[in-house]
Amino acid sequence: MTAPSARPPSVDALARSIADVGLPHPLLVEAARAAIAAGDAASARARAEQRARSLLRPVLNATGVLLHTNLGRAPVAHAQAAGYTNLELDLRSGRRGSRSDHVARLWADLCGAEAALVVNNGAAAVLLVLAALAPGQGVAVSRSELVEIGGGFRVPEVMAQSGARLVEVGTTNRTRRSDFERAVATHGEDLAVLLKVHQSNYRIVGFTETVEVGELAGLGPPVVADIGSGLLDAACPWLPGGPPPWLAGEPAARQTLAAGADLVTFSGDKLAGGPQAGVIAGRAELVSRCAAHPLARALRPGGLVLAALQSLALTYLERRGGDIPFWRMATVDAAELRSRAFAVVASAARGRVVDLASVPGGGTLPGVVIASAGVSLGGDRLAELRAWRRPVIGRVEEGRTLLDLRSVDPGDDSELASALSALALRTKPQA
Ligand SMILES: *Cc1c(COP(=O)(O)O)cnc(C)c1O
Repeated sequence: MTAPSARPPSVDALARSIADVGLPHPLLVEAARAAIAAGDAASARARAEQRARSLLRPVLNATGVLLHTNLGRAPVAHAQAAGYTNLELDLRSGRRGSRSDHVARLWADLCGAEAALVVNNGAAAVLLVLAALAPGQGVAVSRSELVEIGGGFRVPEVMAQSGARLVEVGTTNRTRRSDFERAVATHGEDLAVLLKVHQSNYRIVGFTETVEVGELAGLGPPVVADIGSGLLDAACPWLPGGPPPWLAGEPAARQTLAAGADLVTFSGDKLAGGPQAGVIAGRAELVSRCAAHPLARALRPGGLVLAALQSLALTYLERRGGDIPFWRMATVDAAELRSRAFAVVASAARGRVVDLASVPGGGTLPGVVIASAGVSLGGDRLAELRAWRRPVIGRVEEGRTLLDLRSVDPGDDSELASALSALALRTKPQA
């Protein structure tokens, strides 16, 4: 739009000329100003488009990683009209209520717990439990469970932030009940919690021994199990076919409490399939101590998250697992994915149908793969696919781009086909 020798256009005129990018005017002005300052007014449009693309937006997850931390972990749908709710009002008495009463009680029911409390994420749940139950006191953990999960959640560091003191027990590969007994005997009253942390994203194999929750119960201090993934019940009563075989061995909230844990903590957006949240569930007296701690206020979620967690809890209680996107995607048959892949390839006139292996992801179930199917393209087409109007996120393996349909909602197949058919044909033969 600018001739090189012309006077630079006014910032405002330049911003108006790129209004079709669809950003609010002040952001267009920012792009225009930056372009003129760089002596390249013609770059204003590209700058504005880049800004628009940096905004939060829906993407198509064709990675086959069902709980992809970069893509928001579990897919959740939640819509609500603008309006007030009884977030902290007791409708019977008309007095102030607790925001734990409605939603948290449903989650307690789901886990078979006396009470529950919802916080912002799994890390917050662990932090709050330790701060409330072991201020300045000892917390015993097996040396095999001093884990780091994802960026930033390191058990010893969370412990330090909580004000509790780490009491390491056993060895990296083997920890026995007698190690915990000795810790209880040595530290006495000062040992406030026995903590069991799910190793989540790694495994120790070979000459190993671990202490189960049931063996810790009865040693004295309350037993807290950070199960992480948020599997609510190992029997998966919300799935008509029961638990899928790949779930075997994953600790579940209900069974962990039944085995003797006094509290469990877990994330809302891993195997629970909900929004980012953390749940503390177990004995009412301990949950109350967590709720009464000053940190509880700082870690509490907002009404939108609570509303989403409530509808998710009701769906679980109604045993409609097929209406929970994570469980629907995780349990669909590979044959069905294959026939969807054939339809996508036919409609796009691009790619080949391939058998693939999906993973649950989100730091859960390391090593577990779920048979899947999808589309393969020659070469690395990831950047082009990300540039599509609804960015498509895939993966590259051995020089091929793989698009796994297990993590794609069937309603998005036609969008995926459009993205594929819009890819430029490659003239160079692919490796
Ligand atoms: C994922 C995980 C966490 C952290 O939960 P966030 O919801 O990511 O904060 C803590 N502990 C365990 C065992 C986990 O698997």
